[in-house]
Amino acid sequence: MTSAKWFERAQKVIPGGVNSPVRAFNGVGGTPVYFKSGKGVNVQTEDGTELIDFCGSWGPLILGHARDEIVDVVAKTAADGLTFGANTAAEAEFAELITTLIPEMDMVRLVSSGTEAVMSAIRLARGYTGRRKIIKFDGCYHGHSDYLLVAAGSGLLTGGTTSSAGVSPAATEEVYVVPYNDLEKVQDVLKADGENIAAVIVEPIAGNMGLVEPEPGFLEGLREATAACGTLLIFDEVINGFRLAPTTFGHTIGIEADITTLGKIIGGGMPIGALGGSTEIMSALAPLGPVYQAGTLSGNPVAVAAGMKTLELLRDESPYLKIEILGKKLADGINAIAEEKELDLHCAQRGGMFTPFFRKEAVRNLDDSKACDQKAHAAYFHHMLNHGFYTPPSGFEVAFVSAAHTEEHINAFLEAFSKL
Ligand SMILES: *Cc1c(COP(=O)(O)O)cnc(C)c1O
Repeated sequence: MTSAKWFERAQKVIPGGVNSPVRAFNGVGGTPVYFKSGKGVNVQTEDGTELIDFCGSWGPLILGHARDEIVDVVAKTAADGLTFGANTAAEAEFAELITTLIPEMDMVRLVSSGTEAVMSAIRLARGYTGRRKIIKFDGCYHGHSDYLLVAAGSGLLTGGTTSSAGVSPAATEEVYVVPYNDLEKVQDVLKADGENIAAVIVEPIAGNMGLVEPEPGFLEGLREATAACGTLLIFDEVINGFRLAPTTFGHTIGIEADITTLGKIIGGGMPIGALGGSTEIMSALAPLGPVYQAGTLSGNPVAVAAGMKTLELLRDESPYLKIEILGKKLADGINAIAEEKELDLHCAQRGGMFTPFFRKEAVRNLDDSKACDQKAHAAYFHHMLNHGFYTPPSGFEVAFVSAAHTEEHINAFLEAFSKL
């Protein structure tokens, strides 16, 4: 049965036919693709076609689909019991590995998604500081918990407006929303209201408005300004963590966040999330401290096994240089073709992350990203799909080169792109 037929069936029983909105292809139009299987960079669809995947399940699959060692350990672990709701040796070992690879984490708590990790990190920051407000950046996505579904309103200094129905304005009244890369504004807000602000949360490299890099001094400035008023700095590294090195991005640039959240890669394709920080801060979590946090499936043995194997492979094989070279080749190629054909676009890239932005000017925040030509992005998406390449079905997302990609895949992608 084709993707179109499955989508028709699914729409009757799943809202919009999807379990996460971006999968409905509203950003690009057309019928969503139904995936059947994946191995390495290849995915098979219900339409009987094979695609080369540059979406990678939105980030977890840095080692490609169904890597043998990960599948083996998942199967073996599953056979020994899917969940216990009790302690296992493996979760202690996994926490040891994470805290070894990420020196700024003395302790780590496992949860089941990035959303849950960030939600818990915010509660922890509020509980630890005894303060209520937070600062977030417009265009940074931190999962779908109430107080993070905030868009910049007209009244920046009085809190943002909710970006979803069903979110109580009370939940977002305590959230300041500031443009990404606007350090001065953060400094102003902290100066005016710092004693009430529990945390500043940021994606150190933004990946949810397309790929937007922090400008020189931005993250350093956040660290300095937050430290000066006892506000915690939270790095949401659900995308960034283990992406560019076998550790956090914060660690590689020498900026220590107070709390770091992880997800995606650390589950190796299984549902997982984590938050970590110093012993002092993490000790505020129950049962040691007053901040409640719990989960029936937290530390799930199968997810932990997949994550452990993934981090071990990343540590031992360190595919990062290879991924960086391929990512750069891809972005340079796209930019060269754009130049030659006078296309109104440029490709942002860092390591394996890349976003073709459909405008020439650099993108430094959400307003810039919104100014890109979304119709042109949709045309690009469908052109690449028709040529056998799956990229994120939204102009506000990052595409990924994985360790399973080779130079041939990059060349083939560029060959197809040159016909755009
Ligand atoms: C994906 C993502 C999340 C949410 O993670 P889920 O596992 O989808 O809940 C949070 N923060 C960032 C930066 C993300 O990219």
